[in-house]
Amino acid sequence: MTLAVTGALLDGESVCLRTAEDGTIAEIGPAVAPDGADEVLDGAGMALVPGLVNGHTHAAMTLFRGYADDLPLMEWLEGHIWPAEARLDAEDVYWGTRLACAEMIRTGTVRFWDMYWEPGATARAVADSGLRATIGAPLIDAGSSHEKLKRAAEVGLEELADAPPSVIASLAPHAIYTVSNESLEWIGSRSRELGLPIQIHASETEREVIDCLETHGVRPVELLDRLGMLGPDTLLAHGVWLDERERELIASSGATLVTNPVANMKLAVGAAFDLPAALRHGISVGLGTDGAGSNNSLDLLADAKHLALLQKHSAADASVAPAAEVLRVATGALAPLLGAGRLVPGDPADFLLVRTDRPELGLGSLEAGLVYASSGSVVDTTVVGGRVLMRGGAIEGVEEIVARAAERAARIGLRPG
Ligand SMILES: [Zn+2]
Repeated sequence: MTLAVTGALLDGESVCLRTAEDGTIAEIGPAVAPDGADEVLDGAGMALVPGLVNGHTHAAMTLFRGYADDLPLMEWLEGHIWPAEARLDAEDVYWGTRLACAEMIRTGTVRFWDMYWEPGATARAVADSGLRATIGAPLIDAGSSHEKLKRAAEVGLEELADAPPSVIASLAPHAIYTVSNESLEWIGSRSRELGLPIQIHASETEREVIDCLETHGVRPVELLDRLGMLGPDTLLAHGVWLDERERELIASSGATLVTNPVANMKLAVGAAFDLPAALRHGISVGLGTDGAGSNNSLDLLADAKHLALLQKHSAADASVAPAAEVLRVATGALAPLLGAGRLVPGDPADFLLVRTDRPELGLGSLEAGLVYASSGSVVDTTVVGGRVLMRGGAIEGVEEIVARAAERAARIGLRPG
């Protein structure tokens, strides 16, 4: 089945976008017209924009939404999240991830990077939802052993071995304070052997930096560099507490930084990621929500506004993080590792139609409207790989997904049954 979107605005012009049988964009432009076999979507009153890419989340943590809010990071993790996670099974993760995917489709995300338990269940949920994701089981050996971590890594990869092409496997060591140097070094070399990306939390809190200096005599990114963990396939989530030397290391390695401004502010990490400094160093930067346990939303457009405002506020400079730049961060356009496509022939047909006939987006620049005035509710249509996952704001089967996720959250004691 091929698709033709007609009469949608792109860069101020009315265009038609046609998809190919393989789920890529076949043609796009003002002179393009639907072919007789195309399913036609009327794009009148809407603008065509690239899909958003959520560079860091723990999708199934939708089950934890509204549970143990308003606590410091380590108390939240150790006292509440980890004990509850010990009760999770694959079905819980499946339905939690389906709920996350429904919310992401609803708010315009087409691809995400996920670090969570039961990666096979996550992959199944991603495939069933129609989204794309890079998935990794969290690897932790604090309180365990290097040998167990290696086994867990291999089991996680096996669970993803039969996943469809919309799912990419990765190695996801949790953080330098939960994974030993020996294991981090092994993960770095395994990633190079297998050609797999690495995703890791890095420099989220000042405590992490202080402890790293005390234990290892270097800062977190220097440690990762020393252990062979930095490279063009490495994604560092957070990067709040970086110094200039660490930014140089990230830039020269080609690693990607993913900032999560809402989770950082909610967990009160006490500083802002420095977007202008990262871009000045030529670092690839993406945007993430982090999990719904610490955000609590997966609406990346809402987070794009937070990113812009936090940057301006902390730099005391309103010209920092302009809307068009922030939108490029949110669509993954400034971080090739994240895997975003562009709206050009041959790239994946992953795109959104946003309503410009709604009050939020009717006037002024589209970029400013999307970043400052909108939330994900302006997204009318979400298409991934040429497949319409949402049209007119409606997602097929969403009622069942919400009900099943609620059942699973009750099962593990996160909400009344
Ligand atoms: Zn995270």
